[in-house]
Amino acid sequence: MYNLPFIVSYVFRGNRVEYTDARAASTKTGAYRRGPMDQKLDRNLLEQLRHANHVVVLTGAGMSAESGIPTFRDAQTGMWAKYRPEDLATPEAFQANPQRVWQWYEERRRTVGKARPHAGHLALVRMASVFPRVTIITQNVDGLHQMAGSKRVIELHGNINRSKCSISHRPISSDWLADSDLQPPPSPYVKGGLARPDVVWFGEVLPQGAIDAATNAARTCDFCFSVGTTSLVQPAASLPMHALRHGAPLVEINPQETPLSSQSDQCIRATASQALAGIAAQLDGMR
Ligand code: NAD
Repeated sequence: MYNLPFIVSYVFRGNRVEYTDARAASTKTGAYRRGPMDQKLDRNLLEQLRHANHVVVLTGAGMSAESGIPTFRDAQTGMWAKYRPEDLATPEAFQANPQRVWQWYEERRRTVGKARPHAGHLALVRMASVFPRVTIITQNVDGLHQMAGSKRVIELHGNINRSKCSISHRPISSDWLADSDLQPPPSPYVKGGLARPDVVWFGEVLPQGAIDAATNAARTCDFCFSVGTTSLVQPAASLPMHALRHGAPLVEINPQETPLSSQSDQCIRATASQALAGIAAQLDGMR
């Protein structure tokens, strides 16, 4: 069973990121694989990518930033600035103040409702037509990969557009939620239960099927991208390490350095849309 979380708590309490698995691995092995850092995929890596059978792409909140969905850290604006994400995205927060948590998610749902996929999402759809298999493993809860047209998407942290019973965890249909902008309606299943977003909160267990499928994909892929994630939230942060240990090249796409940077064969310091559209164009240019 996997818990989403312990690392998150270090991060949000301002502790040092050395506690991530990725950094620990790099200290243990002394490995320092960082390759070229220009904005295009390195020629050798491009050649390896071209011959890949199974490409895995792990995405985080940075993947959706250019679609107008703020990352957690950027999302704390306006009336929400006084709350920390872990004060809103936990079962304890919901228990203490379901109305507040529900309203925060309502606002996030509205933002997600207006968002559309960008050139990076579309580049991944194009890549799926080039390689025998492309698996997207996303920490995002916004459904943008599917909206873009990607078919093989593993949602590790659920989906904000779905709701479930806070006690039985059975799905609740959107019809049941009509006129519930301000507070969560009671669960149709269990007395005392409420509707809640079908997302994985900090401290909660990930859906076993999703993490099993993601781990298996990471272990069997022959090329791995990590896009727009700080690589601090476990167990998602460990997935690229599985790929690496099984011999797949690893490329990080993130404007900022992360604990995964030192493990990566290349770090592309560009946004998700710039980098992925650029790689798709490089692949097109080789055909
Ligand atoms: P995160 O840990 O994935 O951090 C965001 C990362 O994206 C940072 O490393 C940042 O440098 C990078 N980034 C910012 N803009 C980028 C861009 N344009 N292109 C590429 N990279 C960019 O995410 P978080 O904000 O710390 O959130 C933690 C968890 O919260 C996530 O794992 C996710 O489950 C959830 N979350 C989901 C969404 C969503 O569904 N869109 C949004 C916020 C948070």
